[in-house]
Amino acid sequence: MPQNLCACGAPLLASYDLALAAVRMTQEELRRRGPSLWRYAEVMPGAAESAVSLGEGWTPLLYAQRLGEALGAAKLFIKDESPNPTGTFKARGLAVAVTRAKELGLKKLAIPTAGNAGSALAAYASRAGLEAYVLMPRDAPAANQLECRLYGAELILVDGLIGDCARLLSERKDKEGWFEVTTLKEPYRVEGKKTLGYEIFEQLGWRLPDALLYPTGGGVGLIGMWKAFAEMEEMGWIGPERPRMIAVQTTGCAPIVRAFQMRATTSEPWPNPKTLAAGLRVPKALGDFLILDALYRSDGAAIAVEDEELLAEMREAAEKEGLFLCPEGAATVAAARKLLANRFLKSDAAVVLCNTGTGLKYLDVVRSAARA
Ligand SMILES: *Cc1c(COP(=O)(O)O)cnc(C)c1O
Repeated sequence: MPQNLCACGAPLLASYDLALAAVRMTQEELRRRGPSLWRYAEVMPGAAESAVSLGEGWTPLLYAQRLGEALGAAKLFIKDESPNPTGTFKARGLAVAVTRAKELGLKKLAIPTAGNAGSALAAYASRAGLEAYVLMPRDAPAANQLECRLYGAELILVDGLIGDCARLLSERKDKEGWFEVTTLKEPYRVEGKKTLGYEIFEQLGWRLPDALLYPTGGGVGLIGMWKAFAEMEEMGWIGPERPRMIAVQTTGCAPIVRAFQMRATTSEPWPNPKTLAAGLRVPKALGDFLILDALYRSDGAAIAVEDEELLAEMREAAEKEGLFLCPEGAATVAAARKLLANRFLKSDAAVVLCNTGTGLKYLDVVRSAARA
């Protein structure tokens, strides 16, 4: 029986035969494998041969010399997720979730989303020949709404936020026969997102960075990378060292930052979240305890930046590196600037920023913000 959560109500996490994976996934072998996230087959659910794929993953890790100089970082890298199908790293999670859903014989997949996850589900469901039901805030970016319609999903616009979408989904799913692919209520999206960690490690030459800045909404990528590092340690690829994990939010919705400042183990729902970084408009993350645990254990941090600051960094990254960052990715630049200025990060540290998608999906949002 396909299952969402554990009987105890906690998220389910996949596990693998890591002893076998360690034997098979050698450096030499990995060099021979194809340029997609399915290259890590031994630590992925689902069979690579039957993957529902649009070419997700294996995105570039770009050395950002000029931006780094402006920030005071000699070794600044941007993991650029914009080349992914549907333009964001949500493709990683949904490729894997839809692959598993198809293998398990599910037909109707439903998702609550701030926007980008809905687009990715719609695309992969179409590719797999499955039905997609996307519940999205009415004020989500126009591109997300248009994509869902174009890919043939049923788009249900909700007057509210992602949490309201999730509630509506729960009410309707049994009657409609939907299977819920809500992040962390579905075990495989996190498996797709964890491949970010494997790729960064491989692309740095089998080395972890000193710090990793992640724009945190639900925090699934951060949780996934943290899981990837644990798997790598078990395979003998690394020791107990970890990058400092840094969760980046905006001042208009910063529940993880507030919890971190109070050294709390869980977060409180953020009232009236407001930010143009749509992917960060998550008032309460289901996996908040996992995010916070990774931050504390890695001697990391949680930091909030203003919308105006991330808009300025969008301009800076475009002018200095030819990158049209998404607002969420630009938030990590603003955060890195602060953490380098106050010496939390040293100027010679290897720092990786996650640009989780392309700014092209936010034309309406950025345009109206720039006018204001
Ligand atoms: C969803 C999303 C995020 C946040 O990702 P989480 O793993 O849920 O924290 C960041 N950036 C973009 C572009 C997104 O679509």
